[in-house]
Amino acid sequence: MNNKINVVCKKCMKINALPIKESYTKANCGSCKSPLLDTKPIELNSSNFDHFISHNDLPVVVDFWAPWCGPCKMMAPTFEKVAERFPLKIIFAKLNTQNEEMIARRFGISGIPTMILFKNGKESKRISGALDELSMINWIAH
Ligand SMILES: [Zn+2]
Repeated sequence: MNNKINVVCKKCMKINALPIKESYTKANCGSCKSPLLDTKPIELNSSNFDHFISHNDLPVVVDFWAPWCGPCKMMAPTFEKVAERFPLKIIFAKLNTQNEEMIARRFGISGIPTMILFKNGKESKRISGALDELSMINWIAH
């Protein structure tokens, strides 16, 4: 039985194998020593998107947003706040669709904000439109 999970460091992109635990008090990247418990959403781009999504064993939720999108900017603090509830349970990431049109097109993003939950590198589900905190937690956790 595999009792480890791979977690990609948000700072240096190294894949860390962590023992599976119910909760963690401390977990640092073996390479750059950054805290893997840091929940601040990582801003993905074309150079790290596939690596990050496909090598994380934890679910990754990506907020597809753009700087010109008012509802996206309104939802950003909620996204960060909800992320704090899931350290090393669910990874939170953002994708600027204005800078990364290719990725947005690949996933057929037509309206933003759109959140996609990835499991083992594959889309598990998506939702469009800004969510409040409770709706976001419900959508992510169920
Ligand atoms: Zn690192």
